[in-house]
Amino acid sequence: MCGIVAYIGSKQALPILVNGLRRLEYRGYDSAGVALIENRSQSTESRNPEASIQCVRAVGKIDNLSEKLKGQSFDSTFGIAHTRWATHGGVTESNAHPHSDCSGKIILAHNGIIENYRELKEKLGSSHIYKSETDSEVLAHLIEFYYRGDLRKAVLEALAQVCGTYGLVVMHGDHPSLLVSARLGSPLVIGLGEQEYFVASDATPMLAYTKKVIFLEDGEVAEVSRENLHIVNLKDQNITKQTSQIEWDEASAQKQGFDHFMLKEIFDQPTVLQDAIRGRYKTEEGTAHLAGLNMTDAEMRSIKRVILIACGTASYAAMAGKYMFERLAGIPVEVDVASEFRYRDPIIDNQTLVFGISQSGETADTLAAIKEAKRKGAFVRGIVNVVGSTIARETDGGTYIHAGPELAVASTKAFTNMTAILLLYALQFGRLNKLSVATGQRLLAALAEIPEKMKLVLAQNEKIKELANKYKNNPNFLFLGRGVNFPVALEGSLKLKEITYIHSEAVAGGEMKHGPIALLSPMFPVFAIMTKNQLYDKMRSNIEEVKARKAPIILVATEGDLGAAELAQDVIFVPPTMEVLEPLLNTLPLQLFAYHTAVALGRDVDRPRNLAKSVTVE
Ligand code: GLU
Repeated sequence: MCGIVAYIGSKQALPILVNGLRRLEYRGYDSAGVALIENRSQSTESRNPEASIQCVRAVGKIDNLSEKLKGQSFDSTFGIAHTRWATHGGVTESNAHPHSDCSGKIILAHNGIIENYRELKEKLGSSHIYKSETDSEVLAHLIEFYYRGDLRKAVLEALAQVCGTYGLVVMHGDHPSLLVSARLGSPLVIGLGEQEYFVASDATPMLAYTKKVIFLEDGEVAEVSRENLHIVNLKDQNITKQTSQIEWDEASAQKQGFDHFMLKEIFDQPTVLQDAIRGRYKTEEGTAHLAGLNMTDAEMRSIKRVILIACGTASYAAMAGKYMFERLAGIPVEVDVASEFRYRDPIIDNQTLVFGISQSGETADTLAAIKEAKRKGAFVRGIVNVVGSTIARETDGGTYIHAGPELAVASTKAFTNMTAILLLYALQFGRLNKLSVATGQRLLAALAEIPEKMKLVLAQNEKIKELANKYKNNPNFLFLGRGVNFPVALEGSLKLKEITYIHSEAVAGGEMKHGPIALLSPMFPVFAIMTKNQLYDKMRSNIEEVKARKAPIILVATEGDLGAAELAQDVIFVPPTMEVLEPLLNTLPLQLFAYHTAVALGRDVDRPRNLAKSVTVE
């Protein structure tokens, strides 16, 4: 949610900041702003004459901000920028960040929530004049209160009074070469260039300039100048940090000729699936080898229960993972929505293995849930996409899904890669328990064929586009699936509602007759997954029930299933595979259907309303 970019160096800061904000757009926002400190002192009416600070903000898209910046020449190599996802105060220009203190010299951008802002405001008294309704502005005034010439010290003193969460960048007009940045609960990455530094909510704004980064951790404060980086804790004690290398390249964060990031990411799937599984299995032994698990074979054999904790799309990948684990490894699995898990009294012991699953690795609910599981003595591991993210660091091991940057808000390739990683874990545990080498080998051989089979599904893009146009005006949809395809139905339904705003529900095939069947009518299409697996006949009966109620039917069926066409108005065929692998193929037509429906309805596909990519608030 929301984004921060800051630059200090020798290049012109404005294009870096604005392009950086565009890279962070996927996180979700409602307004944006930028503040720059001018290199030479010059004054015009529109600028603060003393400090030569320019601050421009706009409600809505970054294009609105760019529009306002047009024609303004400002020589600056130091600035901060922000995309705001409003928590306190309406979506207005005066509430957009950056914010300043009374003097106009202390400028900050903040992600998160200052929970005790009311008390702080009271404490500061009536001498401070506020220009916004935000909690964040109070922090600028609090820093002003403590400022006696040393910005870092003032920030530290102010933060000591703050309850809440922050990713923070602060500058001061009297220190045109000094940026102070702090983190508690909202991610910040520092990019190390040649005599230049970047600070941002994730590494994507700096990929074109540097791959060398430092992940700031909670309770750390960085003092950054053009030549130097100095990191301390909240007690102002020095901290030595390790530098990490980012593997993502600049091109992977671009649309590469596709109309939208979402479409590009759907088409990325055959390639990134290979990235996820490469080097992580042993063909001869018919097993997977996920080294990051950090557990001995004996520890793995001691596991009596697995809990998969996730939110949204990741929770549907987890549901697919449950089928895989139970079938292949014979270990009972629970899937828990993170926001529920964290406030229950979950039953956990040292024979429980908990996976926190999150694309961003920053999902606040998942993070809190895994901390709770850790406290209760479980083995806690992460399955995340973003390297160096908080969940990756808070767990005692786990696996990166290697999906590359996922910038569309609606998740696609992260779903399939999470599912693939869960499959490998299920295989690895299975081979330590009852699963035979022959079955393991068969599974690996079938998995190796998935990328090519995904391409065959994606080749039907035009056909799915036609279907989307045919059905786009229906106000409701029901998605149906059984077994391993029930999570696929849930994911297909979520995709559709997220980006088209069409109401849709998903139910397990067998559940339809217990309620949802009452909804069906000729205006209520049913999208069902009826591939050739052990539940085929059961699913077919459910489709017959739908047909009898005259609801239009769209089927995902296995190639060569001639009977499917008799049942349904429309059929999308997918290649056959082993049942546990089906989600890796069957989800793709549903992703494309949601995408093309959203395009046909003129929706903002990559940035649907009200949604944020990485949900860092509770
Ligand atoms: N709480 C702050 C506000 O509402 C920051 C929100 C954000 O993280 O963008 O302005």
